[in-house]
Amino acid sequence: MKIIDKIDKMKTHARIIKKGNKLLGFVPTMGYLHEGHLSLIRAARKQSDVVTVSIFVNPIQFGQNEDYKKYPRDMQRDEELLKNYGVDILFYPEKKDMYPADFSTYVNVEKLTDGLCGKSRVGHFRGVTTVLVKLFEIIKPDIAYFGQKDAQQAFVIKKMIKDLNMDITMKILPTVREADGLAMSSRNTYLTGTLRKDAGLLNRSLILAADLVRSGEKDAKKIIKSIKDFLLASPNIKIDYIAITDTKELRDIAVVRGETLVAVSAFVGKTRLIDNVIINEKKAQENWKYDGLLSGRQAV
Ligand code: AMP
Repeated sequence: MKIIDKIDKMKTHARIIKKGNKLLGFVPTMGYLHEGHLSLIRAARKQSDVVTVSIFVNPIQFGQNEDYKKYPRDMQRDEELLKNYGVDILFYPEKKDMYPADFSTYVNVEKLTDGLCGKSRVGHFRGVTTVLVKLFEIIKPDIAYFGQKDAQQAFVIKKMIKDLNMDITMKILPTVREADGLAMSSRNTYLTGTLRKDAGLLNRSLILAADLVRSGEKDAKKIIKSIKDFLLASPNIKIDYIAITDTKELRDIAVVRGETLVAVSAFVGKTRLIDNVIINEKKAQENWKYDGLLSGRQAV
């Protein structure tokens, strides 16, 4: 595995790969890798000739009071994992090179970023899309891999790729979960004891929502209320938002119809977690499958 920390060197390398007519798969991450990241890397390994993974804890996607400084990092462990997974290139640029003092260009996807996490983390998606445009420009991938766990992020990136006519195929893979349903996240390391146990309730609340739809409930307000009551039974949980939206514009809907996103963000202790499920109401009465929920109800 080649380890590259300089932008110019990465660009030169990408150019050489392109000349060889190779298909370049790219998995952007902030490191502290877990099975969720590895599922993307496995897919990239299968579907492309050269796999590049980036590790960069992107400062501009963190709010002032967020966890940029204490975000978990373990480069040595990540390097080992990536080597074992047959990754070809690990790109880990430095903050000072990505954002020199005079940096002043940002990319912003409008509308889709207004609600959900965009509302509670103002500027977050601008940070995400800006760093991705830079990484795409440096690495020149043909295929880029993302997780459904960050559903709004996936929607926003898809829109950016389309709006900016980027020559990149985007793949979105199902959320990988712990045995109790908790969506894997580097931030789960903040959770211990009762907090870790209660974190599993987020996923359970989504299963509850999916079951309600399955039993014929279509009133979004009622479903949201059920999720809320369920989560607030734990004194450790503070809800950030519960949203039920369409899957095109991510607008709140009053009645569940067709494909619907149910997304939850909550603080478990001081740790903010997110989770979501896409429910297809039309298939609710059939033997339909949840997207990425507990084992036995895994994504298609
Ligand atoms: P992060 O390092 O948290 O920025 O995540 C890097 C990529 O991994 C993003 O596309 C995430 O959506 C994806 N990812 C994170 N957690 C999971 C998970 N539990 N399952 C699937 N993909 C994930």
